[in-house]
Amino acid sequence: MARRHSRYDPDADVGGEAPVAPVLCWLCGRPTGKTIVQHHPVPKSRGGRDTVPMHPICQQTLVVNFTNSELERHGMDVEGLLADPAVRKFVDWVAKKDPDFTATITKKQR
Ligand SMILES: [Zn+2]
Repeated sequence: MARRHSRYDPDADVGGEAPVAPVLCWLCGRPTGKTIVQHHPVPKSRGGRDTVPMHPICQQTLVVNFTNSELERHGMDVEGLLADPAVRKFVDWVAKKDPDFTATITKKQR
């Protein structure tokens, strides 16, 4: 076995930095990429103060599929949002994409 380090630095492990835990997207559960958006599950205009980390594309999906009233009603209940067929389909689709993947999500025709 070859030694990888010629000199062991004892300070390296003392009070060292904790491993950075990946930030997981609130909606799809994948680790976030370079861009993390702080999404208000309850819209700011409806008095929402809590934010959750999300992929830009995931936030966009919520914005185009739900009205502010619907988002307010669901609040922090991500399961309720995932129960929506359009969101479920998106999450299944985006699961295979790169964390930095973005695309334009168009509003569904009503
Ligand atoms: Zn996501």
